[in-house]
Amino acid sequence: MAYEKVVIIGGGFGGLNAAKALKSFKGEVYVIDQMNHHLFQPLLYQVATCALSPGNIAAPIRDILSNQKNAQVIMGEVDRIDSDANIVHLKDGAQFPFSYLIVAPGARHSYFGHPEWEKDAIGLKTLNDALTIRDRLLTTFEEAERMDSIQEAQNHLRFVVVGGGPTGVEMAGAIAELTHRTLFNNFRKIKPEKSQIFLIEGEKQILPSYPPDLAEKAKNALEKTGVKVLLNEKVEEINDNGVKTNKQFIETTNVIWAAGNQASPLLKSLNVPLDRQGRVIVNDDLSIPNHPNIFVIGDAAHFEFNGQVLPGIAPVAIQEAQYISKKILKKTTAPFKYFDKGNLATIGRGKAVGVFRNIKFSGFIAWWVWSVVHIFYLISFYNRVLVAVQWLTLYLTWKRPVRLITRPSSEDLR
Ligand SMILES: Cc1cc2nc3c(=O)[nH]c(=O)nc-3n(C[C@H](O)[C@H](O)[C@H](O)COP(=O)(O)OP(=O)(O)OC[C@H]3O[C@@H](n4cnc5c(N)ncnc54)[C@H](O)[C@@H]3O)c2cc1C
Repeated sequence: MAYEKVVIIGGGFGGLNAAKALKSFKGEVYVIDQMNHHLFQPLLYQVATCALSPGNIAAPIRDILSNQKNAQVIMGEVDRIDSDANIVHLKDGAQFPFSYLIVAPGARHSYFGHPEWEKDAIGLKTLNDALTIRDRLLTTFEEAERMDSIQEAQNHLRFVVVGGGPTGVEMAGAIAELTHRTLFNNFRKIKPEKSQIFLIEGEKQILPSYPPDLAEKAKNALEKTGVKVLLNEKVEEINDNGVKTNKQFIETTNVIWAAGNQASPLLKSLNVPLDRQGRVIVNDDLSIPNHPNIFVIGDAAHFEFNGQVLPGIAPVAIQEAQYISKKILKKTTAPFKYFDKGNLATIGRGKAVGVFRNIKFSGFIAWWVWSVVHIFYLISFYNRVLVAVQWLTLYLTWKRPVRLITRPSSEDLR
């Protein structure tokens, strides 16, 4: 039998779990990622809001796979895939031929056809995004403290999060805790606790994929923490003065984008049908049309299960990765089946909402489950311990220890 090679594009939830599940594969497994680390995106908002350090939620892919002898890690950006010749081309000209290809490059935020909004409304997808948001948030308070008029300074302390899905809700709740609790008493002139935080959602409820009563609970909890939730408001323009919606103009220099996703542009090179979000419409075994050896998984895949397209969440990417590995190891011929483990979203300290099948839960219990699940899924034992300790400290003291501005001045952040 010829010596086989699996190439995996992306070391995120999908790619990394596929590589690990291929431990017993007899050939070679290449993991190619443009970054050197695996990132636990669900906790990025905590890096952006000073609760965790980048190293708490990321780990070198090379280290994670160090004991897996058949795995090789390549840091490089994939430029295109030649699916007829079975070759992956990197931007630097390197080529990786494959017997099987697993494509898991994830997604980026999209600005609904307004890429020009990006400079004023940062999305949250990478560690760099999180650090830029953290720097901007903290710099805003430093700028306000040095303003001549108190009115002008308080006006400066206005933060807008666009998008009321789980990321927007978590982000808005964490900014409220940072401004209203953690920074209390840190400044002499301004009052951070009087900051205004807006969460804008175009639909009639936040957390659109949750049952309405649970979404209402989340809204009430958010409002208690000091977030103003604006429903049925569509963003029409974002510039360096603020956000214009169909109902009002909110003056601000701090906008965080948590509204839309677009799959990796790399997928276009596969020359197969894509959906509106740029995801590949895959077959029932996650392969692409006419290429049974090429699979697309995670946020990059459009897979319909029980009449619904699977959402872009970590459990989908992980289960798809495990399935594909079984397929490559010739341990299954059945189509992919998704097991729904439910949804959880946190609003802030001690507050969360969750739904599993028809069971809904909220409040402290949901928050506890959310915390345990997130610690469990973190990539290394080291990160689990660090995050658990930091969360305990945060819970007991409201302290967010990573309040560091790492770039020299506000100009560099805009
Ligand atoms: C802020 C945020 C919060 C989230 N919260 C939750 C949550 O609470 N629960 C949940 O289940 N899910 C959550 N998600 C979604 C979850 O993180 C994704 O569904 C999951 O990461 C998808 O896995 P993936 O492997 O498809 O892509 P990713 O994990 O994004 O990995 C893609 C990898 O591919 C690499 N890559 C991309 N393009 C290239 C290229 N051209 N060449 C080389 N490498 C490339 C990237 O560097 C990255 O490492 C959240 C996502 C974000 C952004």
